[in-house]
Amino acid sequence: MIAPAAVHVRAPGKINLSLRVGAVGADGYHRLATVFQAVSLYEDVVAEAAEGISLSVTGRAAAEVPTDETNLAWRAAQLLADATGTGAGVHLRITKGVPTAGGMAGGSADAAAALLACDLLWGTGLAREELGELAAELGADVPFALTGQTAIGVGRGDVLTPALARGRFTWVLAMSDRGLSTPEVFRVWDEQNPAAAPVPEVEPELMHALVAGDPHGVARYLVNDLQPAAIELRPELQDVIDAFEASPSLAAIVSGSGPTVVGIAAGPGDAADVAESVRAAGVADEVLVVTGPSLGARLVEPVAAEVD
Ligand code: ATP
Repeated sequence: MIAPAAVHVRAPGKINLSLRVGAVGADGYHRLATVFQAVSLYEDVVAEAAEGISLSVTGRAAAEVPTDETNLAWRAAQLLADATGTGAGVHLRITKGVPTAGGMAGGSADAAAALLACDLLWGTGLAREELGELAAELGADVPFALTGQTAIGVGRGDVLTPALARGRFTWVLAMSDRGLSTPEVFRVWDEQNPAAAPVPEVEPELMHALVAGDPHGVARYLVNDLQPAAIELRPELQDVIDAFEASPSLAAIVSGSGPTVVGIAAGPGDAADVAESVRAAGVADEVLVVTGPSLGARLVEPVAAEVD
């Protein structure tokens, strides 16, 4: 049998262009209606043949990421092993590019990448759909990290419909070294919204602007219902949004549960000016220009070796 000795998979971080939150459903999770876009900030996962499951982490904020069985990538490998009954093991080498606890689903990207990498390493050969089902068991944002591009997510955000988006959009990310806990942000949202609507919806105007490839139209409909809760927990986020408003950015919102703030630029030239202006305001630990949409979890390079 020819089996790879190692498999390298890359998966993208995401931003939410619209994040609408509704009441908690029967499963205990908030109903969401969201528009995800995968952006050019990536998690790299190399899966190497090994005994049992183990994991190491380098890259952005690596010190804050667990390297034991609580790591979402480890749980992904374990879930795939259990689902397929393989006796094979893996060492996962994660290089983080997405901020940890930044509202950009870096852990979910690791899980999606680990699922695909282990499936290829172990030759378990699951269909994308089956990987998607395992992804949804791991977390609400994991299926999107597998599919990437631009998509509408409903339910817990895990029931995806691909969305059309023409061209590339340019985003400026203002990141913080200090993460925000997603459950904590939802707890504050609950306090702020005692009478939430049961089923939220995404604005059709945003979808039209995406199809038209119109950053001005997209800017008009960027919205995040979690933003007031994130700002209550981290009031400095308002200063970051103000810094974007004082720049040539078309609009800016908190990404997901924060604390990353994302601004949209009219194009790459403007994005450099936005980034310089937000950097000069001194309100963020790191400011980066990224583009979207990006592909979902994908093989980077197969490292072939013969195994008996
Ligand atoms: P989301 O937007 O989906 O809420 P996030 O980007 O805010 O996600 P993550 O970086 O995915 O948050 O992870 C949040 C927490 O999960 C971290 O504080 C960390 O303790 C834990 N965690 C488990 N596995 C990972 C991983 N592979 N990478 C990062 N964090 C992980």
